[in-house]
Amino acid sequence: MWISVRRIIIYVLIIICLFFMLPILFTKSFSIEKKESVKVSSEESNEEPQEKYNYGDFSTIRLLHTKTNTVEEVNLDDYLVNVVSAEMPVDYEMEALKAQAVVARTYTIYKIIHSGKHENADICDSSLCCQAWISKEDRLAKWGENSEEKWNKIAKAVSDTKGTVITYNGEPINAFFHSNSGGLTEIPLNVWGGSGYPYLQVVETAGEDEYSQGNSEAVLSKADLEQKMKDKYGNFQINWGEESPISILELTESNRVRTLKVGNVNISGVEARQIFSLRSANFTVEIVGDSVKFSVKGYGHGVGLSQTGSNTLAKDGMAFEDIIKHFYVGVEVINY
Ligand SMILES: [Zn+2]
Repeated sequence: MWISVRRIIIYVLIIICLFFMLPILFTKSFSIEKKESVKVSSEESNEEPQEKYNYGDFSTIRLLHTKTNTVEEVNLDDYLVNVVSAEMPVDYEMEALKAQAVVARTYTIYKIIHSGKHENADICDSSLCCQAWISKEDRLAKWGENSEEKWNKIAKAVSDTKGTVITYNGEPINAFFHSNSGGLTEIPLNVWGGSGYPYLQVVETAGEDEYSQGNSEAVLSKADLEQKMKDKYGNFQINWGEESPISILELTESNRVRTLKVGNVNISGVEARQIFSLRSANFTVEIVGDSVKFSVKGYGHGVGLSQTGSNTLAKDGMAFEDIIKHFYVGVEVINY
């Protein structure tokens, strides 16, 4: 009798253990072993692997269409063609497009692993929230001429890099990217206040000036600037007669504006970018008559890969793996 009770207790304990273990076993995880298992099987069979892209859980993603608030299940690589066609000009070099494809793939997988932004979806179609996506129909219509040819170029960049992701310490990275760095990329701490991404450093890239995104100006009337500041800060005051009513107090590690004094208020460069609709936080400011002129370098937050910088490096003959390693310090570009 005593033995059978003990057995029952042991069985119950085993069932309880399994109950807690099963969800862990089935939780989405990204393991380096997947690569090795694919490699072994292809070597054993001496053939091209049937399905090189062996992500299991990552092969299909749940995409939120923000306009209709509907969630669509799509194949990851099909999705990436739409993303790359929305994020990068099709006339960019093939190696730049491949770098963008790998970055977008890695960014997506990172989102799936570290989910949280969207309740019933892995990622959404908005560049302001996740990353841009455009339907093939809309994309072809916008391109007009030779649109199928252009679509095929992007599809090739995605398929040629199938299964390739960027990792740091064996984990997919948070692959931030932007349009134009203005010459130096930024660390995330200075943009969002977050840290813990050792691969996101200040990196220098030549040739950023040559693009239309490299330099821009924003001119506001003094009255307009005052109104925009008052909308945000009720106590805002400015005396245009004093020596420096607007002045840059401090720069970040990448020479972007860290602190801008506007009248009696100090704001960050990132905030100035939002309030005055500047293309980046890398700017100088001068007062010209009744206007305030911001001269801006670069386009975007400046963290991670620069798209125009990638195109320049590709024109110089750099392969997509090296372009990626230029912008993300100490990473590996791995084909699974
Ligand atoms: Zn989103």
